[in-house]
Amino acid sequence: MLGVAVYLIAFLFLLGLLPAFVARQKGHSFLLWWLYGAVLFIVALPHAMVLRPRNVAEMADGKSCPYCEELVPQEDEICPFCHLHLYDPALDGPAIGHSMTHRHA
Ligand SMILES: [Zn+2]
Repeated sequence: MLGVAVYLIAFLFLLGLLPAFVARQKGHSFLLWWLYGAVLFIVALPHAMVLRPRNVAEMADGKSCPYCEELVPQEDEICPFCHLHLYDPALDGPAIGHSMTHRHA
């Protein structure tokens, strides 16, 4: 009976490698996801699949400069790349930004 349990646990840890590899490719902790996958494989695998890569998750906190299209932190009001004043696209609308794209400062 004990032998079956050992095989079952070994099997679960092998299964857990799958979501661990998927999560590691997206910049997450391999070890944590391995344990997560071993304990909750049914949940962990689809969870790892829908994980957003770390750099994309960080990018979601920023905004892109309407002038040079570089990514700048959400709280910045002056673009660190082209040093132009940024507006909030949600407030000003994309049409204004587009018409100003080629304006020389
Ligand atoms: Zn810029």
